[in-house]
Amino acid sequence: MAWRCSGATNAELIANLRSKEILHSDRVAKAMTTVDRANYVLDKEDAYEDSPQSIGHGATISAPHMHGYASEHLLPYLNPGAKVLDVGSGSGYLAAVLYHLVGEGGKVVGIDHIPELVDWSVENLKKDGLGKVLDSKEIEMIAGDGRLGYAAGGPYDAIHVGAAAPTVPPALLEQLASPGRMFIPVGNFMQSIEQIDKDENGNVTTKRIMAVRYVPLTDRDKQVDF
Ligand code: SAH
Repeated sequence: MAWRCSGATNAELIANLRSKEILHSDRVAKAMTTVDRANYVLDKEDAYEDSPQSIGHGATISAPHMHGYASEHLLPYLNPGAKVLDVGSGSGYLAAVLYHLVGEGGKVVGIDHIPELVDWSVENLKKDGLGKVLDSKEIEMIAGDGRLGYAAGGPYDAIHVGAAAPTVPPALLEQLASPGRMFIPVGNFMQSIEQIDKDENGNVTTKRIMAVRYVPLTDRDKQVDF
Protein backbone atom coordinates (compact mmCIF):
# COMPACT_ATOMS: atom_id res chain seq x y z
CA MET A 1 0.00 0.00 0.00
CA ALA A 2 2.81 2.41 0.88
CA TRP A 3 3.73 5.06 -1.71
CA ARG A 4 0.70 4.26 -3.86
CA CYS A 5 -1.10 7.38 -2.74
CA SER A 6 1.80 9.84 -2.64
CA GLY A 7 1.15 13.32 -3.99
CA ALA A 8 3.07 16.49 -4.83
CA THR A 9 0.94 18.50 -2.41
CA ASN A 10 -1.06 17.78 0.72
CA ALA A 11 -4.31 18.19 -1.25
CA GLU A 12 -3.09 15.72 -3.90
CA LEU A 13 -2.06 13.17 -1.27
CA ILE A 14 -5.54 13.31 0.29
CA ALA A 15 -7.21 13.16 -3.14
CA ASN A 16 -5.18 10.01 -3.92
CA LEU A 17 -6.13 8.40 -0.59
CA ARG A 18 -9.71 9.14 -1.53
CA SER A 19 -9.53 7.74 -5.07
CA LYS A 20 -7.87 4.53 -3.75
CA GLU A 21 -10.84 4.25 -1.34
CA ILE A 22 -8.79 4.46 1.81
CA LEU A 23 -10.82 7.52 2.73
CA HIS A 24 -14.57 7.07 2.38
CA SER A 25 -15.96 10.07 4.18
CA ASP A 26 -15.99 13.77 3.43
CA ARG A 27 -15.35 14.42 7.13
CA VAL A 28 -12.01 12.57 7.27
CA ALA A 29 -10.91 13.92 3.88
CA LYS A 30 -11.67 17.45 5.06
CA ALA A 31 -9.86 17.00 8.39
CA MET A 32 -6.78 15.51 6.68
CA THR A 33 -6.80 18.33 4.13
CA THR A 34 -6.81 20.88 6.94
CA VAL A 35 -3.72 19.33 8.54
CA ASP A 36 -0.55 19.97 6.52
CA ARG A 37 1.67 16.90 6.96
CA ALA A 38 4.73 19.06 6.16
CA ASN A 39 4.38 20.54 9.66
CA TYR A 40 4.88 17.11 11.26
CA VAL A 41 7.91 15.61 9.44
CA LEU A 42 11.66 16.13 9.68
CA ASP A 43 12.28 16.05 5.93
CA LYS A 44 9.79 18.34 4.19
CA GLU A 45 10.65 16.88 0.77
CA ASP A 46 9.01 13.61 1.78
CA ALA A 47 6.01 15.22 3.49
CA TYR A 48 3.45 13.99 0.95
CA GLU A 49 4.87 10.49 0.47
CA ASP A 50 2.43 7.79 1.53
CA SER A 51 5.02 6.13 3.76
CA PRO A 52 6.13 6.23 7.38
CA GLN A 53 9.12 8.49 8.08
CA SER A 54 11.60 8.58 10.93
CA ILE A 55 10.98 11.36 13.45
CA GLY A 56 13.99 10.38 15.57
CA HIS A 57 14.06 8.70 19.01
CA GLY A 58 13.18 5.34 17.42
CA ALA A 59 9.79 6.67 16.34
CA THR A 60 8.11 7.19 12.98
CA ILE A 61 5.24 9.31 11.74
CA SER A 62 2.84 6.69 10.39
CA ALA A 63 2.00 6.53 6.70
CA PRO A 64 -0.93 8.74 5.67
CA HIS A 65 -2.97 5.69 4.62
CA MET A 66 -2.69 4.31 8.19
CA HIS A 67 -3.82 7.63 9.65
CA GLY A 68 -6.66 7.53 7.13
CA TYR A 69 -7.71 4.00 8.10
CA ALA A 70 -7.54 4.84 11.80
CA SER A 71 -9.68 7.96 11.40
CA GLU A 72 -12.25 6.18 9.24
CA HIS A 73 -12.56 3.29 11.68
CA LEU A 74 -12.96 5.59 14.68
CA LEU A 75 -15.25 8.01 12.84
CA PRO A 76 -18.62 6.84 14.29
CA TYR A 77 -17.22 7.83 17.72
CA LEU A 78 -15.66 11.12 16.62
CA ASN A 79 -18.78 13.22 16.89
CA PRO A 80 -18.65 16.93 17.69
CA GLY A 81 -17.60 17.38 21.31
CA ALA A 82 -16.18 13.85 21.70
CA LYS A 83 -13.16 13.03 23.87
CA VAL A 84 -10.27 11.18 22.26
CA LEU A 85 -7.00 9.69 23.51
CA ASP A 86 -4.04 9.24 21.11
CA VAL A 87 -1.45 6.92 22.67
CA GLY A 88 2.04 7.16 21.14
CA SER A 89 1.23 10.57 19.69
CA GLY A 90 4.71 11.06 18.18
CA SER A 91 4.64 13.94 15.69
CA GLY A 92 1.19 15.15 16.79
CA TYR A 93 -0.21 14.69 13.26
CA LEU A 94 -3.08 12.41 14.21
CA ALA A 95 -3.97 14.49 17.27
CA ALA A 96 -4.51 17.40 14.86
CA VAL A 97 -6.68 15.33 12.50
CA LEU A 98 -8.70 13.97 15.42
CA TYR A 99 -9.19 17.48 16.77
CA HIS A 100 -10.58 18.70 13.45
CA LEU A 101 -13.01 15.77 13.56
CA VAL A 102 -14.35 16.38 17.08
CA GLY A 103 -14.23 20.15 16.61
CA GLU A 104 -14.51 22.98 19.07
CA GLY A 105 -15.82 21.71 22.39
CA GLY A 106 -14.15 18.36 21.80
CA LYS A 107 -10.99 17.19 23.53
CA VAL A 108 -7.91 15.34 22.27
CA VAL A 109 -5.24 14.08 24.65
CA GLY A 110 -1.98 12.92 23.05
CA ILE A 111 0.47 10.95 25.17
CA ASP A 112 4.02 9.88 24.32
CA HIS A 113 6.80 8.62 26.59
CA ILE A 114 9.57 10.62 24.85
CA PRO A 115 9.42 14.15 26.30
CA GLU A 116 11.44 15.57 23.37
CA LEU A 117 8.82 14.25 20.96
CA VAL A 118 6.02 15.74 23.07
CA ASP A 119 7.72 19.16 22.94
CA TRP A 120 8.29 18.80 19.20
CA SER A 121 4.66 17.78 18.62
CA VAL A 122 3.52 20.94 20.43
CA GLU A 123 5.70 23.02 18.11
CA ASN A 124 4.28 21.16 15.10
CA LEU A 125 0.71 21.76 16.20
CA LYS A 126 1.45 25.47 16.67
CA LYS A 127 2.95 25.69 13.18
CA ASP A 128 -0.20 24.03 11.90
CA GLY A 129 -2.39 26.77 13.39
CA LEU A 130 -3.50 25.00 16.56
CA GLY A 131 -1.76 27.23 19.12
CA LYS A 132 -5.03 28.60 20.49
CA VAL A 133 -6.47 25.11 20.77
CA LEU A 134 -3.42 24.09 22.83
CA ASP A 135 -3.90 27.19 25.03
CA SER A 136 -7.52 26.26 25.67
CA LYS A 137 -6.43 22.66 26.42
CA GLU A 138 -8.80 21.23 23.85
CA ILE A 139 -5.63 19.53 22.66
CA GLU A 140 -3.30 18.44 25.45
CA MET A 141 0.02 16.72 24.73
CA ILE A 142 1.38 14.80 27.71
CA ALA A 143 4.64 13.00 28.45
CA GLY A 144 4.03 9.66 30.11
CA ASP A 145 3.58 5.93 29.76
CA GLY A 146 0.68 5.57 27.36
CA ARG A 147 0.01 2.01 28.55
CA LEU A 148 -1.50 3.62 31.64
CA GLY A 149 -3.62 5.98 29.56
CA TYR A 150 -4.57 9.31 31.10
CA ALA A 151 -7.47 8.74 33.46
CA ALA A 152 -7.88 12.44 34.28
CA GLY A 153 -9.08 13.15 30.72
CA GLY A 154 -11.36 10.12 30.34
CA PRO A 155 -13.51 8.27 29.72
CA TYR A 156 -12.76 8.52 26.00
CA ASP A 157 -15.23 8.01 23.18
CA ALA A 158 -12.32 6.92 20.99
CA ILE A 159 -8.80 5.69 21.73
CA HIS A 160 -6.13 5.41 19.04
CA VAL A 161 -2.91 3.59 19.79
CA GLY A 162 0.00 4.36 17.45
CA ALA A 163 2.42 1.65 18.62
CA ALA A 164 1.97 -2.13 18.85
CA ALA A 165 1.17 -3.57 22.28
CA PRO A 166 1.88 -7.26 23.02
CA THR A 167 -1.58 -7.34 24.65
CA VAL A 168 -4.26 -4.68 25.12
CA PRO A 169 -3.31 -2.55 28.16
CA PRO A 170 -6.11 -2.93 30.76
CA ALA A 171 -5.98 0.78 31.71
CA LEU A 172 -6.89 1.74 28.15
CA LEU A 173 -9.87 -0.60 28.14
CA GLU A 174 -10.98 0.88 31.48
CA GLN A 175 -10.71 4.43 30.17
CA LEU A 176 -12.78 3.64 27.07
CA ALA A 177 -16.30 5.09 27.38
CA SER A 178 -19.48 2.99 27.10
CA PRO A 179 -20.03 3.17 24.18
CA GLY A 180 -16.56 3.72 22.78
CA ARG A 181 -14.10 2.32 20.26
CA MET A 182 -10.36 1.62 20.38
CA PHE A 183 -8.09 1.18 17.33
CA ILE A 184 -4.94 -0.61 18.46
CA PRO A 185 -2.16 -2.63 16.81
CA VAL A 186 -1.59 -5.79 18.86
CA GLY A 187 1.21 -8.33 18.66
CA ASN A 188 4.97 -8.65 18.68
CA PHE A 189 6.43 -9.74 15.35
CA MET A 190 3.04 -10.59 13.85
CA GLN A 191 0.79 -7.63 14.48
CA SER A 192 -2.74 -6.81 13.55
CA ILE A 193 -5.06 -3.90 14.14
CA GLU A 194 -7.81 -4.73 16.59
CA GLN A 195 -10.97 -2.67 16.68
CA ILE A 196 -12.34 -2.97 20.20
CA ASP A 197 -15.89 -1.83 20.84
CA LYS A 198 -17.40 -1.28 24.27
CA ASP A 199 -21.19 -1.06 24.14
CA GLU A 200 -23.46 1.04 26.37
CA ASN A 201 -23.62 -1.84 28.90
CA GLY A 202 -19.84 -2.19 29.06
CA ASN A 203 -19.70 -5.38 26.94
CA VAL A 204 -16.49 -5.61 24.92
CA THR A 205 -16.11 -7.12 21.44
CA THR A 206 -12.95 -7.32 19.35
CA LYS A 207 -12.63 -7.41 15.57
CA ARG A 208 -9.33 -8.03 13.81
CA ILE A 209 -9.00 -5.65 10.88
CA MET A 210 -5.67 -6.08 9.10
CA ALA A 211 -2.03 -7.14 9.45
CA VAL A 212 0.33 -4.24 10.15
CA ARG A 213 3.88 -3.34 11.19
CA TYR A 214 4.15 -0.69 13.92
CA VAL A 215 6.95 0.28 16.33
CA PRO A 216 6.39 -1.37 19.73
CA LEU A 217 4.49 0.14 22.64
CA THR A 218 7.28 -0.42 25.11
CA ASP A 219 9.43 0.93 27.95
CA ARG A 220 11.21 4.19 27.25
CA ASP A 221 14.69 2.71 27.74
CA LYS A 222 13.88 -0.14 25.33
CA GLN A 223 12.97 2.19 22.46
CA VAL A 224 16.02 2.22 20.23
CA ASP A 225 16.86 4.89 17.73
CA PHE A 226 17.74 3.82 14.22
N1 SAH B 1 0.97 8.38 15.62
C1 SAH B 1 2.34 8.76 15.70
C2 SAH B 1 3.13 7.47 15.73
C3 SAH B 1 4.44 7.60 16.33
S1 SAH B 1 5.36 6.07 16.37
C4 SAH B 1 2.70 9.58 14.47
O1 SAH B 1 2.20 9.24 13.41
O2 SAH B 1 3.48 10.52 14.56
C5 SAH B 1 4.88 5.41 17.90
C6 SAH B 1 5.06 6.30 19.07
O3 SAH B 1 4.75 5.55 20.23
C7 SAH B 1 6.47 6.82 19.26
O4 SAH B 1 6.45 8.22 19.23
C8 SAH B 1 6.90 6.28 20.62
O5 SAH B 1 7.71 7.19 21.35
C9 SAH B 1 5.56 6.02 21.29
N2 SAH B 1 5.55 5.04 22.36
C10 SAH B 1 6.09 3.78 22.37
N3 SAH B 1 5.87 3.20 23.57
C11 SAH B 1 5.17 4.09 24.33
C12 SAH B 1 4.64 4.08 25.65
N4 SAH B 1 4.80 3.03 26.47
N5 SAH B 1 3.98 5.17 26.09
C13 SAH B 1 3.82 6.26 25.29
N6 SAH B 1 4.30 6.34 24.05
C14 SAH B 1 4.96 5.27 23.55
